[in-house]
Amino acid sequence: RARIVIIGAGIAGTATAYHLAELGVTDVVVIDQGPLYRTGGSTSHAPGGMFQTNSSRVMSAWARYTIGLFASLEVDGVSGAAFLGGIELAETPERLQEAKRRRGLQQSWGIPGEILSPSEVQKFIPIVDPKKILGGLYVPDDCIGRPALAAEAMGRAAEAAGIEFHGRVTVTGFERANGRVSAVVTDHGRIEAEMVLCCAGIWGPKIGRLAGVPIALQPMAHQYVKTAPLPILEELSQGGTIESAMPLIRAQDHSLYFRQHFGQFGIGNYRHVPLPVNAEDLLPFDKAPRMPSCLEFTPEHFVECHEASLNLFPILANVPQADAFNGIFSFPPDGMPLMGEHADLPGFWVCEGVWITHSAGIGRSMAHWMVEGDPGIDIREADVNRFAKFQTTPKYVLERGSQQYREVYDVIHPLAQPTAVRGLRTTPMHDRHVANGAHFWEVAGWERPAWFEANAGLAKSLELPSRTGWAAYEWSPIQGAEAIATRKAAGLYDVSTFTKLEVSGADAARLLNHVLANDVDKPVGQVVYTCMLNTRGGVISDMVVTRTADDAFLILTGTGSGPSDIAHIERVAAGPAFAGADVSIRNLTHELCGIGLWGPKVRDILAGLTDDDISDAGFPYYRSREIDFGPIRARALRISYAGEYGFEFYVAAPQGRALWDALVAAGEGHDLVVCGIGALDSLRIEKGYRLAGADLHGDRTPLEAGLGWSVSFKKGDFVGRAALAAQKAAGVPTRLSCLTLDDPDVVVLGKEPVLRDGKAVAYVTSANTGYTVGKTIAYAYLPADLARPGEAFEIEYLGTRHAATVVADPLYDPSGSRLKG
Ligand code: FAD
Repeated sequence: RARIVIIGAGIAGTATAYHLAELGVTDVVVIDQGPLYRTGGSTSHAPGGMFQTNSSRVMSAWARYTIGLFASLEVDGVSGAAFLGGIELAETPERLQEAKRRRGLQQSWGIPGEILSPSEVQKFIPIVDPKKILGGLYVPDDCIGRPALAAEAMGRAAEAAGIEFHGRVTVTGFERANGRVSAVVTDHGRIEAEMVLCCAGIWGPKIGRLAGVPIALQPMAHQYVKTAPLPILEELSQGGTIESAMPLIRAQDHSLYFRQHFGQFGIGNYRHVPLPVNAEDLLPFDKAPRMPSCLEFTPEHFVECHEASLNLFPILANVPQADAFNGIFSFPPDGMPLMGEHADLPGFWVCEGVWITHSAGIGRSMAHWMVEGDPGIDIREADVNRFAKFQTTPKYVLERGSQQYREVYDVIHPLAQPTAVRGLRTTPMHDRHVANGAHFWEVAGWERPAWFEANAGLAKSLELPSRTGWAAYEWSPIQGAEAIATRKAAGLYDVSTFTKLEVSGADAARLLNHVLANDVDKPVGQVVYTCMLNTRGGVISDMVVTRTADDAFLILTGTGSGPSDIAHIERVAAGPAFAGADVSIRNLTHELCGIGLWGPKVRDILAGLTDDDISDAGFPYYRSREIDFGPIRARALRISYAGEYGFEFYVAAPQGRALWDALVAAGEGHDLVVCGIGALDSLRIEKGYRLAGADLHGDRTPLEAGLGWSVSFKKGDFVGRAALAAQKAAGVPTRLSCLTLDDPDVVVLGKEPVLRDGKAVAYVTSANTGYTVGKTIAYAYLPADLARPGEAFEIEYLGTRHAATVVADPLYDPSGSRLKG
């Protein structure tokens, strides 16, 4: 019997065990089917390149922690990491621009770095042909990790603390009791466990199948080649004493990476068709020719890579390969790890899709999460429960995993749209959107109109700001036209993709008041805006809650955050405080469709459609009730993400299109315009509404986000209350602040560094053009003492710094008079 059983002694399993031991939790058993600590998994053969720069804040934070820890690890006098630096080569103008953007990310996340000229790159990498490159992005403390050694060092340290490790023990099944996992079954017997953690790497989907839960990752073969020794590298390695005298190299324009192994040159190759692998077909350790996670090399997939390598490093001509293999590792559908307790099986935890680069940071987060109930950092992008069911089907995982493999080094715009498996979730109004020339953005499988080409004429008739280059990607001036039309007359928005939940039962109010920060125990018909917090007081999500009956609530939350939000509420509901409680949680997302109608002419538009009293007195702001549009009954909520008078209507999905058509018809003669989410994002930022997942995240509290008004300290205890109360007493360290770019023609997109006296003090959480206010608006958590209107900063966009000034927010309609209509 053990408190925790960890399956897998690769880098993910050993890193978690190490950090559990650090927290004093040693009633833990780690088992691996292979021998310790060269188990035959991916960690046993990974070359260990550790580049920290990542567009994800949490991934960069994990990487920084990991390299620091690896450098402190040692086995038999050999260190777990060597700081050599890393250089990302830029061979095209687009890649050089990308290097500048990544330099911005580095400043935002606190990673040192600089852009080098070709000759400066050559000083670090004497074998590169400088004529083939335009420059390079250099990070001095990127490093080469020694993954197998680091795993062994962490494993040994955990063992020394009392954690048991058993090699050559294979998990063959699981037992369940009371709806939880209760024991791990192995070929050497069973181990009862309170919690099981799956760190099985490429075998994760197989372990998931044994446990009866989907684990969405696709194992892929990936080529790695070592050349025969080269005299120049032998010289650089000073007779085999220095493993690598050159930094790590990435040549992303060719989907390749390189490192020195003493006299040999190592080449990692993503430049081949995706080679998916079914881990269930892999040979066991004793039968595998090399190791279970290595397949035979396929030379036909190396041809292009060889040519590209020669082009950059002419010295490689005629150098034979000394070693070559197709290693296997995992690709989740969105490239991010899978972490946390699986919503489908309480007690069954997952730590999968983990690169060496982020492993120790992830292991630390896992340990804190399992022991203290919170990972200590916002892991939303890596939450194992972030997927809708269809996103865990093998076909979806294969298609999206393959796309991740192909694009692993591509220049990816933050708004880039996936091309594989589209059109899986459409709203009842989809054919109307297609007819209006919708340009779709995909979120969680939903196809959402970003703007409508039908409004191109409207855009031409207005003087709208223009964008070029990177900022113009997935942008159209039509977004501006739709935003202005909403403010001038009215906009109709399809908001069906929001996650809709019904929480009901005699204890529904008690549960929600515990899991949410605001007081939702209000009269029927009251709408409440609230945040859902973690125990650190950080914002997991924000949502709108309507009491629809004494014992029932309708919750509206984000399109993408829905599955994670539901898992969180269900986890709290399953806790001891709610044992035997009368609560049920139903996901109504596919049952209801939603339509937003906002703008000054909404009352005129609705006058011909409903007899209901929609006057300000008859239907006040933040109230909800059902109203009839002829034969169609819809739940109306007097709320607005646009900052204009209007409603969201929720109606049975099969009636959604009829209601949409009725509203469009009623809008004729009132300048009603169908609008996309591009316009809505501009409207919300002008009005200062926070964007969940960007402005709001788990490492900042509602007090810092300026949402203190939505926290009810009076109502009693709730998740995060103690942390918020402490912060309230101590004062907030940062404040989410509104900045405008001094030059209205400058555009920033989000995640750029905000600088004061040349030093990054914050990053842009979200940004957009405010078409009505005529400014580029950016939000950032500024140090509290600098978060005052008039304070001057700079925002660095693609290598150029632009002046920005803090302004009072919201910029648009601060008195809220427009919402009154
Ligand atoms: P593993 O190391 O595979 O560990 C999983 C363990 O689970 C295995 O030891 C396995 O034996 C055990 N197991 C599975 N099933 C069972 C069972 N039923 N019972 C008991 N035990 C079981 N990442 C980087 O960050 N930088 C790089 O430069 C890099 N280069 C790479 C190059 C190549 C060629 C490849 C293939 C991968 C590379 N990676 C790199 C990725 C990295 O190697 C992996 O992501 C990482 O090692 C995964 O670690 P893990 O602990 O999740 O999996």
